[in-house]
Amino acid sequence: MASSQEATPNRPQLPPNFANELWQRFASEQKRKLAETAGTQPSSSEISAGDYAAFTTHLKSATRILALFGAGLSAASGIPTFRGAGGFWREYDCMTLATPSAFAKDPALVWQFYSYRRHCSLNAKPNKAHIALAELAKRKPEFFAISQNIDGLCQRAGHPPENIQAIHGSLFSNRCTKCHYVENDNFKDPLVPAFALPDDVDLADAKFPLKSIPIEDLPRCPDCGGLLRPNVVWFGESLPSGRRRPRGGLDEWFHGEFREE
Ligand SMILES: [Zn+2]
Repeated sequence: MASSQEATPNRPQLPPNFANELWQRFASEQKRKLAETAGTQPSSSEISAGDYAAFTTHLKSATRILALFGAGLSAASGIPTFRGAGGFWREYDCMTLATPSAFAKDPALVWQFYSYRRHCSLNAKPNKAHIALAELAKRKPEFFAISQNIDGLCQRAGHPPENIQAIHGSLFSNRCTKCHYVENDNFKDPLVPAFALPDDVDLADAKFPLKSIPIEDLPRCPDCGGLLRPNVVWFGESLPSGRRRPRGGLDEWFHGEFREE
């Protein structure tokens, strides 16, 4: 057992493949639901045809539209939601892994979790929902999307950047834990050589041992040499404020100043 695993807080005692089996069951359930609603009309158990038509008419006539969405949007692209039955990565509860205290105790473990998530996102494709939202944003200049997702799939679907705010940050942005350095749109995979894995290794499968990575081999700040961390909002953290809050976008939209450039 790698020493990096032993320092994690609240580590539940679960069979090695438990998280993987949970995820497989969750993924097959998502696929089943998706197959049910794959036609042009939604299934009667989800939404009535009348409601669907009324929503479509209302959407077409609306100009100022705000959408809020989260992990469910990307589930059909195969991105784990890490909630409910799929709330585990290996044997770790993600709600205890995606925290400042877990990173402080074992940055190599938390970084490997995020390296896995970056890899999954880069290998996933935007689904029809991402594409529909991007298309809506192109047709409706005052449409604005608040995304809780950090996977970048909306952006890859062509969602205009001025019409979306990823309030929980991005898997492809990192910031220094010591200075104010921030890097955006870093799509390198693996992010550092220490995160490289053979092609046949699925890091979500607990049968593959995690690496014990020295802290100096984790992503480092090019300005001060400090440890970088994913520029995402972890459990127990507030949404970005002050200098870390993105300019424009959501604030402008709420103040009615939002206009297409
Ligand atoms: Zn720094």
